[in-house]
Amino acid sequence: MRVHISVDMEGVSGVADAADTTLGAPHYEYCRRLMTAECNAAVEGCFEAGASEVIVNDSHGTMLNLLQEQLDPRVKVVRGRTKSLGMMQGLSRDCDASMFVGYHAAAGHDDGVLNHTMRGRDVQGVFLNDEPAGELRLNAAMAGTMGVPIVLVSGDDVVCGEASDCLGNVEAVEVKRAIDKYTALSLHPTRAQEAIREGARRALGRLADFTAYTVGSPTTLRVAWNSTSIAALCENIPGVKRVGSREVEYTSADYVELYRLLRVMLSLAASAAAAPYSYD
Ligand SMILES: [Zn+2]
Repeated sequence: MRVHISVDMEGVSGVADAADTTLGAPHYEYCRRLMTAECNAAVEGCFEAGASEVIVNDSHGTMLNLLQEQLDPRVKVVRGRTKSLGMMQGLSRDCDASMFVGYHAAAGHDDGVLNHTMRGRDVQGVFLNDEPAGELRLNAAMAGTMGVPIVLVSGDDVVCGEASDCLGNVEAVEVKRAIDKYTALSLHPTRAQEAIREGARRALGRLADFTAYTVGSPTTLRVAWNSTSIAALCENIPGVKRVGSREVEYTSADYVELYRLLRVMLSLAASAAAAPYSYD
């Protein structure tokens, strides 16, 4: 049994503020240890359930967060951000399951802790066939193209609700409750890690219950940016249509193409956002 794990940071127990998740920020070094420990908890649960191979993808920000020598020695780790499948790198058709550890709610979804979709400052919302799509849904649909089900999601109560709404049958492990976008009521790290380990073991123990998530085809990807300038930049990509002053869309029967296009547009947004001056 081969298992893929995509590990983000905003949904880790104890993490609540942008100062917890940004390289060089005051609490980052502490919080990356919590992230590594939650990853290990999921990995342990996988091996307890009989996994033969576990591939971990570092999926947060720089994608250089996990402390490799502190990871379970049985895992293989994808480190680095230049990868066409982004948060789902390392996944392949011969994986039996994927897990989302440390995930967070979509941009604008209730008061989810650190809610955002891919690029917090630039993206107001992403939609697949007019339904809101956070990272959870975007990535689950990517796994669906390979026939791989998402069997576990961990994070706050809001992303756990998002997981149940989107995926139906999934082990949703709530490690904190959202009080505000920047405030959380967290379990103690030890308790959170126990819950993730048990959730992973339970999920793989009933693997036959899960089905891969797919979106309707053809699929229309729409991105609402915060800046008209980014929408104008994206319009330069052949096939991308400007459908509002801040919105662009693209339709394809090939979801992998859409997913890769989204990553290209996010790179454009990052280059536009690199301007040194602000005007407020
Ligand atoms: Zn993240």
